[in-house]
Amino acid sequence: MSAQLLEGRTIAGKIKEDLKKEIEALSKSKGAVPRLVSIQAGENAASAVYIKSQKKNAENLGIEYMLETLDSNITQDSLLDLIEGLNKDKGVSGIIVQLPLPKGIDHRVVMSAISPEKDAEGMHPENLGRVLLGDATLAPCTASAAMELIKSAGVKLYGKEATIVGHSEIVGKPLSMLLLNKFVTTCVCHIATGERGLLPEHVKHAEILVVAVGKAGLVKGDWIKQGAVVIDVGINRVGDKIVGDVEFDAAKERASFITPVPGGVGPLTVTMLMKNVVAAFKMQHELK
Ligand code: NAD
Repeated sequence: MSAQLLEGRTIAGKIKEDLKKEIEALSKSKGAVPRLVSIQAGENAASAVYIKSQKKNAENLGIEYMLETLDSNITQDSLLDLIEGLNKDKGVSGIIVQLPLPKGIDHRVVMSAISPEKDAEGMHPENLGRVLLGDATLAPCTASAAMELIKSAGVKLYGKEATIVGHSEIVGKPLSMLLLNKFVTTCVCHIATGERGLLPEHVKHAEILVVAVGKAGLVKGDWIKQGAVVIDVGINRVGDKIVGDVEFDAAKERASFITPVPGGVGPLTVTMLMKNVVAAFKMQHELK
């Protein structure tokens, strides 16, 4: 039987409805709405698409959105000064710095300079530490999006076997912690797993499979366990099409739930960013 699709847009729609109501209520009670400041240094086509989506989503929800566009020859010190100013500005609820940054700027230093309370992407070391401890308010957006999609499948997580392929700081590593916090037995695979030829073995027993690599069709359909929940984070351009990392057509015949690419994780990632901005605003106003 063919898998049920986990449509990111549908799940995002419900979260956005709640956020919109919450922002309206905050506007009435606090006389202010959350404000997200996005910093882009230099030009990048992928960032430009993400910025457009951030702006549209923010405006639809009633979040103020400001874009700071910087020259590609900005120095790290000037960028840090700008962030320091935004950290101090009580009118700014969230800050996001678009990656990649121009050559010569250390993204770790920049991410760490954002106040943990204004860290819209949940990538500050303090927030990543909170993910590990299981009490994060601001968690990395793509990992949270994958987690929302898994939850939306409605399967009991406790004791499940999960495999994550990809151990990046933005997806695989934080997601492994989010799953462990729900008592999911979690295996994280990466390039060395692939090089040893062990990927099929780890994928084959996964009841929950998340793939975030960036290689079209890396995970073969016949590796998927019958009834698995499959979350494909990958975005790959093949000719004029966007595809994921999992062989979708074959995988959907074995999975119980599967995300389409595009239309799965992507729409939810930006929604989780908006959710973080609202959570940041509430923290700064000492609201629960
Ligand atoms: P990354 O490039 O930082 O890391 C890739 C990971 O894949 C690493 O852990 C690497 O070890 C692993 N890997 C590479 N080759 C492998 C192989 N042959 N076998 C097993 N593991 C292998 O990844 P990232 O930034 O997390 O992005 C991964 C993919 O997810 C990309 O396609 C990216 O565009 C996409 N992405 C989507 C969203 C979204 O919102 N939908 C957000 C972030 C990233």
